[in-house]
Amino acid sequence: MKMIMPAARRSIFLGLVVALVARAAAQQPAELIVRNGLIVTAVGRTEGDVRLRNGTIAEIGRNLTGGAGAREIDAKGMLVLPGGIDPHVHLTPTPTATTLKGADDYSSGSRAALAGGVTTISNFISPASTEDLPTALAHATELVKNQAIADVILHVMVNDPSKWSPADVTLLADRSFTLKIFLSRPAFDQNAAAYVKLIRSAGAAGLLTMLHCEDASILTTTAERMMAEGRGALKGQNFAQSRPVVAEEIATQRAVAISEATGAPIYIVHISSERAMRAAEVGQARGLPVFTEVRFLYLHLTKERFDEADGAIYTGDPPLREKSDADYLWSAIARGTGYVVDTDHVGYTREDKLDPSLNIINHRPAGNYLQVQLPLLYSEGVRKGRITLERMVALTSTNPAKLFGLYPRKGTIAVGSDADLVIWDPNQKRTIRNEEQLANAKFSIFAGWEVTGWPIVTIRRGEVVYQGGKILAAAGSGQLAPRQHWQRP
Ligand SMILES: [Zn+2]
Repeated sequence: MKMIMPAARRSIFLGLVVALVARAAAQQPAELIVRNGLIVTAVGRTEGDVRLRNGTIAEIGRNLTGGAGAREIDAKGMLVLPGGIDPHVHLTPTPTATTLKGADDYSSGSRAALAGGVTTISNFISPASTEDLPTALAHATELVKNQAIADVILHVMVNDPSKWSPADVTLLADRSFTLKIFLSRPAFDQNAAAYVKLIRSAGAAGLLTMLHCEDASILTTTAERMMAEGRGALKGQNFAQSRPVVAEEIATQRAVAISEATGAPIYIVHISSERAMRAAEVGQARGLPVFTEVRFLYLHLTKERFDEADGAIYTGDPPLREKSDADYLWSAIARGTGYVVDTDHVGYTREDKLDPSLNIINHRPAGNYLQVQLPLLYSEGVRKGRITLERMVALTSTNPAKLFGLYPRKGTIAVGSDADLVIWDPNQKRTIRNEEQLANAKFSIFAGWEVTGWPIVTIRRGEVVYQGGKILAAAGSGQLAPRQHWQRP
């Protein structure tokens, strides 16, 4: 049967098609040329132009000629970096009655990320006990599709390893997801053998497992004793003392041992201390697949912050440490035993963090960090000569891309890669301001800090999504990034 449209209706229909095509073209110009920037990857830098077409990088060279309808951005005097990848971000895409005010969903988390030069973020999903894994994944995928502006990767938290079937591991392996396990929770010691079995089977299937390394028995008994002694308030050094460095060191050693015994690759999240980093380095020196993440806070802040009147604002697991720890972490990221620098972002407002009902046990760890991480790393790291520009790119884009199965689609500037770029003004001096925070928390513990170097344009898959302080793309334009097998950076 052939459908015949009356002429009037046909012209309306054609008009609609033309309008739709025009709209698509406006959002995604046929071609965008980023001209005359200093193009930086993890392995070098070169001056030139980058041609972006259909969401990917089509050409890199000098004096590229624009095709018909090509848009251009003059990046003279600017750096052109691959979009940042933050694999440690916590979001709350489905608010509940108890959700805190600052909680970020994929949209607000994306806005903060893109304004901070980060084009790919993560979330950790925790399947409810009533939900099977395929249902949980389908639900999470749907939320990303509806809300995200940045691209997204997902990690799955393991709450009860005995419930994990070989089919679950295969399901995740097919899409190269990541597992996350907490050595810091009493459940780990209660089910240690089941956890180790799961880490082994995940590794054999090609999956990377993220491990939170603090020893549960030390944390629990220390906190209980301090509460009984009346030292449970988030005041002074109580919080730091409730999570001693030895708890982090011994759990890191245990994680390295599990990697050695099972052959499984592990990714140790948010290392905060010299002693834990050294424990990981021992494993690396033996050739084990032990990868490390440094939460950016530990590079910039030390435990004296807890003595401030609102010191509880700095709580995070593990706590801030000594100046010597910060120095050691800077050296580890400079020489490459520290692989990734990221945030552990959680959307808490100032009030959420300073809630007087909180103590050393029920504190709210981490906070609103996504927008400031890269500017701080550039200003404190690159400008001050602690790390090179290439290393900054490795730590915040290339290495996480390789470890989380995104490389070479993401994590570099190369022909065929996604056109995720940040145009960075290396000389712009800025003061970090609460009013400019795009996450729901609308405050930063770094407010008032002066930095040099600032992301001025962010491009995600060829689309200018952030410019002039404004987010230009809509919720739903981000996507779940396809992932492949992890690789060694
Ligand atoms: Zn975390």
